[in-house]
This record gives sequence, structure tokens and C-alpha cells, in this order.
Amino acid sequence: MKKKYINYSYSLNICNLRREFVFNRMMRRQTLLVWAGMVAAGCAQGQAGNNAHMDFEKYEPVSTLKVPEHPLSRARYPFIDVHNHQWGMSSQDLSSLTKEMDQLHMQVMVNLSGGNGSSLKKMTDNIKAHAPKRFIVFANIDFKGIGSNGWTEKAVQQLEEDVKNGAGGLKIFKNLGLSVKDNTGKRVAIDDPRLDAIWDKCGALGIPVLIHAADPAPFWDAMDEHNERWLELATHPGRQRGADNPAPWEQIIEEQHRMFKKHPRTTYINAHFGWYANDLSKLSSLMEEIPNMYVEFGAIIAELGRQPKMARQFFEKYQDRILFGKDSWVPSEYATYFRVLETGDEYFPYHKKYHAFWRLYGMELPDGILKKIYYKNALRIIPGIDKSAFPE
Ligand SMILES: [Zn+2]
Repeated sequence: MKKKYINYSYSLNICNLRREFVFNRMMRRQTLLVWAGMVAAGCAQGQAGNNAHMDFEKYEPVSTLKVPEHPLSRARYPFIDVHNHQWGMSSQDLSSLTKEMDQLHMQVMVNLSGGNGSSLKKMTDNIKAHAPKRFIVFANIDFKGIGSNGWTEKAVQQLEEDVKNGAGGLKIFKNLGLSVKDNTGKRVAIDDPRLDAIWDKCGALGIPVLIHAADPAPFWDAMDEHNERWLELATHPGRQRGADNPAPWEQIIEEQHRMFKKHPRTTYINAHFGWYANDLSKLSSLMEEIPNMYVEFGAIIAELGRQPKMARQFFEKYQDRILFGKDSWVPSEYATYFRVLETGDEYFPYHKKYHAFWRLYGMELPDGILKKIYYKNALRIIPGIDKSAFPE
């Protein structure tokens, strides 16, 4: 076998010798040409020739644009942040928090992480004792054991008790639709009928339901050079899903919309603009279809700031159904929200490149709309907020 192989390759080698010689001469000539070209380009670009390749994550150009700038560290009106999370509220000293809120002009913070039962009561007790006009707490449902006998009745009863103890609303986290499973191990859909009595109870008690469903749609798409959230997925690999993990994005979102429609007497606040801030005409048609749905713009201000004309039209049309929300408690980041809402500034930076590698533009909303977004709409739908601290 081996001998045969050697003979075969030897005969081939004889034929190839001349071809190889010609090929090598050609390659040498080409390499010389490419090298000469690189030297010329390098000279033309000066030092940049050494950095011809730049990483997307590293590239942070300093803008040379000179335009009027109106950075804001404080909102024009006192405002209510309907989407905030505070974990230690049952025992923390609230005065340092209210001082930080004062600097922003935040009159009321809605803490969506209220839990339920005794832990919720400890929070509302601490608030009543130390800062009764500054905080509202939303209750949460404990989905453990859903499907077992009497689960729904118990959950409704718990909610009634939590509202008696001072809860001003119900917050549903994204685990419903993604990771909540019933007692048989099946994913619980957002419009699961076993939850109907909870939504109806919220309507009867006059409290809103703020719900965050799924995540931005690109988390479900291929993580490649076309994915707008590539950097977020690269820096937060745990956020990546697949087409069916645990269900297609559209399916989870549609479950949410069906649930809204099924309970028209319940007021819903769709968190993060329902993940349609990048498609405001779609969101507009949903606003028309679902009159009991409000929206808040937590974590999606960069979507509004990249389309200030379209966004302003949306705010003009739905000015009675948009609420101020931010989500993560990083006081310095509120500046971007105020600037997009209040100013007509152009091409200013956002604070998280993995949300937005683009720059933002202000919507310059008129005072009448600002007041509704900052506090009037929240005062109308969230019970228990003292109105006296807000202007007419
Ligand atoms: Zn949140």
C-alpha cells in the first residue's frame, strides 16, 4: 500500500514541479505589490495605519459636533416614577433615599418589589412611619404551586390582604410567561385562565397591574452581526434565548395582549412600552385595540430618542396613557430621560452602549403633556398618592 502511494505521488510531483515554480514567482510579485500598497496607505493615513482595525466595543469617538446643549439633572415638574425597585424598604432609613429623590424632583417612587404578606406589610409600615407621601408599594404574586387545589382563591385572598395593608397596585414580573410552571411542570401562559380571578380582583379593587412580559425581541434572534442587541448578548450571555426558549417571542407577547383584552375593566400598565418602542405604529394600533392598556418607558428611552418626531407624535396622541418609568435605580441616569422628554437637544449620548450605540434627540414636549407624563396620569390610576404636592 505504502509503496504504491509513494510511486503515485512521485509521478505527480514531476508534473507539478514546473507549475510550482511559476506559481511561487507570481506569489512573490503579488506579495511585493500588496506590501507596497500597504506602505503607501499607511503613509497617507499617518498613525492610523497601525489601527486600521477597530473593535466595536472599543470604539468611542468623541463627537466634534457643536450644537446647543441643555443637560438636565432635575425634572421641570415633580414626578412619579412608576417603575422602580428597592429591596431593603422594610427596614432601611428612607431619608437618604428621599434626599436623592429630591435632587431629581421625584416626588413619589413606586417600588414594584413589594412581595406580599408580612414582608409587604413591613415596607408599608416603614413608609407610613417615616415618609408616607413619598412611596407607593406594589404587591407581587407568589406563583409557586399554581394548579394545585385552591391556589387561585388563596392568591386572590392574599392580594386583598396586601391591598388592605397599603399596596397600591400589582406588579407581574417577566417570570410569568418565561419560567413560571404549574404543579405539573407546564409553562404557565400569561393568559392562563387560572389567573383570571386575580386580574378581575385588581379591577374590582381599583388598582392597576404593571406587567413586564418577555424581553426585547432580538434576544430571540440569531446573535450575529445583524442583531441590534449583539453587544448586550455578548456582555450578558444569560439573556440570549432561541426561537422556542421557552416559546417564540410573538407568542408570549400575544398571550399578554389577549389577557389585557379579556379583562377590559382592569387597568394595565405595559412596562417598557410593551417592547414595541422600536415600532410605534404597531404600538399605536395596540393602544387603539386595548383601551385599558397604559405604557411606561422604563429602559427604552433610547428608542424614543432615536426617533424624536415619531415619538413626539405618539406622545401627542396618547398623552393620557403614558407614564414615567425608569426601572433600575441609578439617579444619574435620569438626566437622559429629562433631556429626551423636555429639550430639543440634538445628538447627545446615552449611558449604556449595550442598549444604544446611537445618540439621542429630544422630543421637546409641551408643558401640558409633560405634566400628564410626569404625574397627572399616575395620580389618576394609582390609588393612595397625595395630590397636594403636585401643581394643577
Ligand atoms: Zn423592573
